Amino acid sequence: MSLHAELHRHLGGAVVPRVFWRYLIRTGHPLARQFPDYEEFEAFVTRPRSSLAEYLELHALVEPFQTLDTLPYFVSKLVRGAYVFEGICYLELRHTPFYRTDPALPLNDRIAQMRDVILAIGEAGYDPKFPLLMRQILCMHSQLPAEVNRAMLTLAREMPHYVCGIDLAGPDIYYAARMDELAGLFGEARAEGIKTTGHVYETADGFHPRLLPLLSRIGHGIQIPLRFPELLDEVAARGQCLEVCPTTYLKTGTLPDLSSLRTVFERCEAAGVDVIICTDNAGLHNVRLPWEYENLLTQDVINFDQLTACQDAAFRHAFAWPHPHPPRVLLDAIVSASPGIGSFSAPNTSQGELL
Ligand SMILES: [Zn+2]
Repeated sequence: MSLHAELHRHLGGAVVPRVFWRYLIRTGHPLARQFPDYEEFEAFVTRPRSSLAEYLELHALVEPFQTLDTLPYFVSKLVRGAYVFEGICYLELRHTPFYRTDPALPLNDRIAQMRDVILAIGEAGYDPKFPLLMRQILCMHSQLPAEVNRAMLTLAREMPHYVCGIDLAGPDIYYAARMDELAGLFGEARAEGIKTTGHVYETADGFHPRLLPLLSRIGHGIQIPLRFPELLDEVAARGQCLEVCPTTYLKTGTLPDLSSLRTVFERCEAAGVDVIICTDNAGLHNVRLPWEYENLLTQDVINFDQLTACQDAAFRHAFAWPHPHPPRVLLDAIVSASPGIGSFSAPNTSQGELL
């Protein structure tokens, strides 16, 4: 039984480097000539960047490959990998559908094609051999025209079987100039009961208190406990959680190492704010979800009790997990009811019976 929920993963960063590189080689893409050896390609995509903006350029590299024709290939591979290698049973996969439409089409036709992109991803996301529940979060983008962002809100409203929420993504240096538009869209979403998350309080350009009350969950938000701990009480009162993606902060240069995340976990726990551990871009980082957990444990950032609390909280804050309990509780019910459990100290049980 798979055990984990992943709430923050981008489609553009979810394909592992080897699958992407093999695709480039097989299709004879010019990029394959630039990187004839896999190791060089892996080093190129996984090396740390100097800023969030430079880091996000990697998405721009991958997105043109994710077309209506190729999405079934990439999505089915990433779902299979998440289930088999990461033990993920619930995945919220986020993306900006506009960037998967045909760039040769006029704007209105590209907006219309976003519906097909969502359908293609949704259909490719289910494989009975790897029964993972996948839902999509649509990422409004700080560099896209207003009508494209509005169209995403419309699609979230009209396609609830595929889409479980909306997000705000893209370089956060562009948020401030568009704050009226963005706050308006997120306010509408909340008024209609559509779930929301947003990349805020990750870097110094993402401090936007106006957006905070409009979010069901906070994408990253690590600077709230680190630099604005006075906001934690209101975050707790709204029942919001932080989606913390440890490896991202090393790749973007936001944090020098993971040790400062200890403060994030401690202050959130003290204030009653849940923290969810996520990967953001497991493929581009080449760090899968269990390794995010293990890195935090072995570097003494959190202990096992804190990890279990984060894992359970992920199911509570999931936008579309259909059960009141995480699978850990279901599995425990099965194991604890099995013959032999709890009987090892029974006085009249012989060694032979136990074996
Ligand atoms: Zn993200």
